[in-house]
Amino acid sequence: MGRVYLSPPHMSGAETGFVQDAFATNWIAPLGPHVDAFEREFAATVQVPHAAALSSGTAALHLAMMLLGVGPGDEVVCSSLTFSASANPIAYVGATPVFVDADPATWNMDPALLAAELEESAVRGRLPKAVVVVDIYGQSADHGAIGDVCARYCVPVIEDAAEALGATYEGMPVGRFGVLGAFSFNGNKIITTSGGGMLVSADENLIARARFLATQARDSAPHYQHSTIGFNYRLSNVLAAIGRGQLTVLGARIEARRANFDFYRRSLEDLPGLEFMPEAPYGRCTRWLTCITIEPSRFGASREDVRLALETQDIEARPVWKPMHLQPVFSGCRVRGGAVSERLFRNGLCLPSGSSLTDGDRARVIATVRRVCRKA
Ligand SMILES: *Cc1c(COP(=O)(O)O)cnc(C)c1O
Repeated sequence: MGRVYLSPPHMSGAETGFVQDAFATNWIAPLGPHVDAFEREFAATVQVPHAAALSSGTAALHLAMMLLGVGPGDEVVCSSLTFSASANPIAYVGATPVFVDADPATWNMDPALLAAELEESAVRGRLPKAVVVVDIYGQSADHGAIGDVCARYCVPVIEDAAEALGATYEGMPVGRFGVLGAFSFNGNKIITTSGGGMLVSADENLIARARFLATQARDSAPHYQHSTIGFNYRLSNVLAAIGRGQLTVLGARIEARRANFDFYRRSLEDLPGLEFMPEAPYGRCTRWLTCITIEPSRFGASREDVRLALETQDIEARPVWKPMHLQPVFSGCRVRGGAVSERLFRNGLCLPSGSSLTDGDRARVIATVRRVCRKA
């Protein structure tokens, strides 16, 4: 029996055809036709007009900060319950993050807390330069409510949809609810290019500027001339070829992850003190990861007891993200609320959720979780 991973890459077979084409045509040099095609196909998938393929989701968020002119002295509001890559780009440009707690009904940024934060910032005369809204664990944030609050104060939204490709909000794909949206194709995400990202926008000029900054900011001159500091942030043609193959199976990947979730719920929901991440009524969650919470007094064991028991069975499970306001690197940053994400971190566990998980893998997970429960 091999190790069961949290969220391993899952190739479809279609990738090799695209990659072989890149080799056959010698388009190994970074940019090439697969990059252009991947951008077009991806933009169509998430229903945005423009997309720039990049080396990572983090690079996409870094460029988003620069495109919105965020800099030293600025504040940027960010979801607290997320991966550090949502917040790090705020620091890259010298700005200060302000964290907002999660809504227990969605695990995403609480719109009421955001409204309170912006209201007070407006009174102080110091509105944030942007708001980074994360779509956590495959679930859309409440973009209607958050968009309304931000529009009231004219603060632009950056949507971090790295974990939620294929999720919807009121029938519309996520990633398109901010001025800019960021996606990731890291190895653990729902589709992968082994590493990569995408920046999307309805604004053609922003995406053109992103491509310019991502290719070392070369002025249009026959020699190498630069008037701006640039970056080497583009996705290579070979990796874009993998992405095109992965995009053809996105729908199947979402269904497989949702099936994992349904299987876990059917098999574990009778256990006392064990609950599943709720699905918000306004959209469809991809269930990128199946997340549970364990109330130790009712379950008879802690989240960590469960995680360690799984580990002894060679099964990888991970605690829910440690909130950014608890991270040593962001100590001293302001936080609005905090108790919700702290509880989700304390009690939350992500179960193996890959789209290639077998019935046997899931049976092993379930048997172990049930064995640890001392109140069943
Ligand atoms: C994975 C992830 C990122 C970063 O993407 P990379 O491609 O790994 O740089 C950003 N935000 C969130 C919420 C993520 O989960």
